[in-house]
Amino acid sequence: MTHATTPTFVGTLSPRARFWANNKGTLIGCGVLVALMIVVPFTASSSVMNIVVFAMIFALPAIGLNLLMGLAGQVSLGQAAFFAIGAYTHAILLTKLDLPGPVAATVGVLAAMLVALLVGLPLMRLRGHYLALATLGLGFIVMIGVREWDVTGRTTGIYGISRPTVLGIPIDNSGFFLWFVTPFVVIGLILALNLTHSRAGRALSAVNDSELAAESLGVNTYALRLKVFVLSAGFAGLGGVFYAYQVAIVSPATAEFHLSVSILLMVVIGGLGSVWGAVAGAFLVQFLGEGMRDIIPAVFPGATGEVQLLGYGIVLILVILLLPGGLHQAATSLWQKLPFAGKRPPGDAHAHAHAAEDDTTIPQLPAVSTPVAAGEPILVLEGLTKRYGGVVAVNDVSLTVPAGSILGLIGPNGAGKTTCFNMISGALIPSEGTVTFLGQVISGRKPHVAAKHGLTRTFQNLQVFTSTDVVGNVYMGRYRKGSAGVLRGMLGLQSAEQSAHRAASYEILQSMRLTDAADDSASDLSFGKQRIMEVCRALAAEPALLLLDEPMAGLSGTEREVMAELLRRLRTAGLTIVLVEHDVAQVMSLADHVAVLDDGVLIAHGDPESVRNDPAVVVAYLGTDLDEAEAELNELEEHA
Ligand code: ATP
Repeated sequence: MTHATTPTFVGTLSPRARFWANNKGTLIGCGVLVALMIVVPFTASSSVMNIVVFAMIFALPAIGLNLLMGLAGQVSLGQAAFFAIGAYTHAILLTKLDLPGPVAATVGVLAAMLVALLVGLPLMRLRGHYLALATLGLGFIVMIGVREWDVTGRTTGIYGISRPTVLGIPIDNSGFFLWFVTPFVVIGLILALNLTHSRAGRALSAVNDSELAAESLGVNTYALRLKVFVLSAGFAGLGGVFYAYQVAIVSPATAEFHLSVSILLMVVIGGLGSVWGAVAGAFLVQFLGEGMRDIIPAVFPGATGEVQLLGYGIVLILVILLLPGGLHQAATSLWQKLPFAGKRPPGDAHAHAHAAEDDTTIPQLPAVSTPVAAGEPILVLEGLTKRYGGVVAVNDVSLTVPAGSILGLIGPNGAGKTTCFNMISGALIPSEGTVTFLGQVISGRKPHVAAKHGLTRTFQNLQVFTSTDVVGNVYMGRYRKGSAGVLRGMLGLQSAEQSAHRAASYEILQSMRLTDAADDSASDLSFGKQRIMEVCRALAAEPALLLLDEPMAGLSGTEREVMAELLRRLRTAGLTIVLVEHDVAQVMSLADHVAVLDDGVLIAHGDPESVRNDPAVVVAYLGTDLDEAEAELNELEEHA
């Protein structure tokens, strides 16, 4: 188990103390849950027992959906479909093929995951409402399928499912069944919590914040979303397996739309992104549903099932309105109000902050290892063109960038600079032409492919990962330096890797004097600091080529000086930089070569001096007023 949001001071503790510090929340939480589940059968009435068993069963699909929605930001309305596939497969294998329970259950879960993989392959290319609608459609297909198929017993369903026997003990009462289910829920919880705090989990949150930025740091967003979709279906399938045992009959009701909505509510009410919230949401929704069944007839004698449903709906709306962040946020705010909570010991950020205060210069940067020698071509654009209908945003641009140099890409507004960047980094597919980076043609490939080859970028319109803190943003830059995937993340087998990358992230923040803000929420930073943070994030990837889109925009005078000094030092360290910047004087003083775009066309390319004196460039910037052109040239010379 690992915990990324744990204070950074844990780095100085012994392994055992670090394990406890990293995981105490999970361990205490699971301990309390297990203790409650042990006690409930001795203290609760049979109706309460029933609610608790169903809450534990539905906690599984809710945890799965929370990973998909809360972490990856993918709305699914088809969780009941996977729940039903797990339940039906398990029931059919038990009753018709007489397979042993563990085998039938495993196949049930795998069947749900397999269907998720098959439908996820095309569906994971969809986003937002489209994905929600597509999963809704999947839910209807499964619901109609089980109603019409002989194997699934049509409207009657599959019945005669007997409870399992564990170590010779028949699980034939609710108490035993609760104890049977609890370890699976606890393990599911731990796996999900581990994933949330793992490299893959952070990547999923980053995808949710900005898919473009996550891709540009090397995250294969499609593959990652597909994996979490399949995983989420596995949780739902396991829930379905236990449901089949609990109710002993699997009918089409298992696949109904309202069940998907119910699971969705559990996640929303619990608090999107919180694994514990999903479990709490499952309990709240179950207790509310059953509670209404008792309360409504008592308040309105003779009230029918519809009225109960109405009451249930009204209470749910009230809960959502009063607790917009869900139970998780309500509990967190309550906890923070307690006198002993929220006192975080000073961490690495504070230690580094003092060091940063004393710094007047940027520290020397380690040499960048680039596969090509300085001066050799690292990036080659050939006939690069982008058309939007009649608009030619970039028109037949060809140029070569030598390794270890800074190329300034300038031009008036709308000249095509960002479009050019987007084609180089893979965010846009060129209409014509190619981008060759380190000898590989990368045009038309996804941004994560460019990142894999060592190309990273920043964005003109900032792409901040707002769900994490400043160091968390920079840490995401280390994504390609790590290797742990979803499975290793779930099993918590990556803590050493994580500590090293976190330490490296602090080092980078220190170089740009951002350490004192390291633990602040990234969304709370000023615009200028967010821009610096994006540069730090890109540097954390240790690229061979860095594309900076207006890195000086919004920066104060001192920040500009620090940024310019950093870029010079990066060049000295061997990094190749392509810089789009409106501050022409700054570009002229920094760049080894300058390329000028006007109306999508490359009108000049050469050393700053020759470009500065190129009449075509002056006219492009200032129109045909030559007096103004003269004045601008003089001003540029003064800055140079
Ligand atoms: P700025 O300095 O203002 O950021 P730029 O040099 O980066 O400008 P681009 O943003 O690349 O210019 O835009 C180049 C041209 O392409 C502009 O005329 C713009 O309106 C057009 N353009 C960019 N994106 C699209 C799009 N998606 N559809 C249509 N036209 C577009």
